[in-house]
Amino acid sequence: MLKIHYSLESDLQNGITDIAAPEALSIQVRNLVLKTAKRKKVVRGEVIAEHPAKFGGAHHAACAGTVSDVDYHHLAIKCSGEEEGVEPVDVKSLAPGLEMLRALQGLGIDCAVLSSPADILVINGLNPEPGISVVEQLLKDERETLEAGLELARKLIRPEKVILAEAKGDTFSLAGVENRYIKPKYPNSLDALVVRKITGKEFPSDTKVMSVMDLYDLGRVAMTGLPVTDTVMTIGDRNYRVPLGTPIRHILSTLGMEAKSGDTVVLGGSFRGEAVYSLDEGVKKGDHALFAIGSHVFPAVQDATCINCGECVLNCPGRIMPNLISRYAEYEMFEMAEKYGLNSCFECGLCAFSCTARRPLLQYIRFAKAQLKASRQSEQSQGL
Ligand code: SF4
Ligand code: SF4
Repeated sequence: MLKIHYSLESDLQNGITDIAAPEALSIQVRNLVLKTAKRKKVVRGEVIAEHPAKFGGAHHAACAGTVSDVDYHHLAIKCSGEEEGVEPVDVKSLAPGLEMLRALQGLGIDCAVLSSPADILVINGLNPEPGISVVEQLLKDERETLEAGLELARKLIRPEKVILAEAKGDTFSLAGVENRYIKPKYPNSLDALVVRKITGKEFPSDTKVMSVMDLYDLGRVAMTGLPVTDTVMTIGDRNYRVPLGTPIRHILSTLGMEAKSGDTVVLGGSFRGEAVYSLDEGVKKGDHALFAIGSHVFPAVQDATCINCGECVLNCPGRIMPNLISRYAEYEMFEMAEKYGLNSCFECGLCAFSCTARRPLLQYIRFAKAQLKASRQSEQSQGL
């Protein structure tokens, strides 16, 4: 087996650069509860959709304008260029508990991790994937905001100890936080592996983990009282602040990048990212990287037959058999995939990245998980 060192280190030379809002935004609204309608005017920061999950964060307009189109998947806003926006909410003055959680949800924060106490809070301070430097950038430049986020997180989670997991060699710090160091090599940055490294346990019930990006969003909401309407993304060797809903086409043209016919544009990193099917797709919360691959750089991923080479099994940090699980998923035998460890997969993407036959192993695994989740939700709603 060829062992490659997938380094998580970066060589940051610049600060975060703003990408100006486009003329129109495209926001994914599939599975959300719409709070606006076609032809309605919206101001910047207005709620346009809510998340159906108990603690899911709301979605907001990143610019003032008019809703020009809505379908099951997308909502388009034609930006007016006006500065009109919503009034801030003084979240910090609210009592910690449900009132504060609901206010944060309304401002776009996914609150599941904040909604119950834990003894240990781990801040995952490693860059998520090779080639992505967002975490390091925020730790370097945004300490005050991260500490404001941590203050709120402490109030809600009430941990006895907060630990910043950072890359060996880094010297970042946060007030009142213990530092622990992890070898900056993928997949060591995945939450499950960070927690195991720090606590020595797998999925301990007394420990919660937050990413630096989530802590940063929380800190901005705490400091400004305004909703989250942008995301920080690594593109090339720099980081950019991009309004949510900005079409990829606008980012590429702003940065002078070109995607030719047959090239693949990916939102996310090279292991876990997802190819976009249209350059009119808008960036969404949780998108922290964008890159393009030329049409002939890698052999295409395809539904080829597994040749049983075993590479994926050797590379899997979850110690499961991606070859077997993906075949069950391919033939829609989802319970069998589950029986063979589907839920132990933390979606690192190493199996698909190393597959000799270029099978879409991670996609099969995500497909199986989504199908099982949907069928269980449907059974629950029918009282079965
Ligand atoms: S994505 Fe693949 S390699 Fe990673 S844990 Fe899941 S099955 Fe294993
Ligand atoms: S790496 Fe690909 S071809 Fe090899 S065993 Fe795994 S799924 Fe099969």
